[in-house]
Amino acid sequence: MKYAMGIDIGSTTSKGIILNDRREIVSSFLVHAGTGTGGPQQVRSTLLSEAGLTEADIGYTVVTGYGRNTYEPADARMSEMSCHARGTHELFPGARTVIDIGGQDAKVLRLDGNGRLISFLMNDKCAAGTGRFLEVMAAILQMDVSDLEKQAALTEETLEISSTCTVFAESEVISQLAKGAEIPALIRGICRSVAVRTAALARRAGIEEQICMSGGVAGNGGVRQALEKELGVTIRYSPLAQLTGALGAAHYAMDRAEKGVTGHE
Ligand code: ADP
Repeated sequence: MKYAMGIDIGSTTSKGIILNDRREIVSSFLVHAGTGTGGPQQVRSTLLSEAGLTEADIGYTVVTGYGRNTYEPADARMSEMSCHARGTHELFPGARTVIDIGGQDAKVLRLDGNGRLISFLMNDKCAAGTGRFLEVMAAILQMDVSDLEKQAALTEETLEISSTCTVFAESEVISQLAKGAEIPALIRGICRSVAVRTAALARRAGIEEQICMSGGVAGNGGVRQALEKELGVTIRYSPLAQLTGALGAAHYAMDRAEKGVTGHE
């Protein structure tokens, strides 16, 4: 049996997937250690041990993400845009728009019917509208980012965060807390702030159904729902959202393994 590996080295996390030649996921792994850390190597060794495989079993490895250029054991490197496009297409064959919010940037990708990237727009200049914004706010509230969704679901009320800048928004949240603001409503305001920024990017990129979300922030239902409301659309989401880039990379790797491609590209 042939196996292929996809690794996505992000700014905050490293992710990986091994596919077998029926393109089934035989192992997947995510670690909160991104580029410049031991995260990528940990992903590779954990994927192999969980699947009961050795290096020699892997026909091809494609690496993507922000840290892809400094990772040695790669047969090929591909952009995260192409890999998120492909990964989303494998999860949702009808996808035409992908909204990918990661740790330090947000992207809106437009796909053709075959999952190929037609165009994209990216915000990588400002922390607002990215996972970093949520992390800063979660730290003020002494919570983990993964707790935000549960809290946001506790109320229907949303407190407006008027500052678009992360630093000013941080002061605004601190001052709201000092005034005794209700935390779930404040968290809904924080989620809405990310959604407003992302919706503006999506409108500029142009959106077409089906619209799907990928990246770590997609795991937050509060942001997804606020974004649906802002754009007036339904957004599809898979529990594999944060692994979408690794999934796309693994499929590209399997395309090459099937063709018998060997060696570095
Ligand atoms: P990168 O590839 O840049 O490391 P990811 O797509 O892996 O980015 O996403 C990481 C970001 O997602 C981090 O900023 C993290 O705080 C955020 N994140 C992860 N899980 C959640 C969650 N459940 N709710 C909100 N944000 C989340």
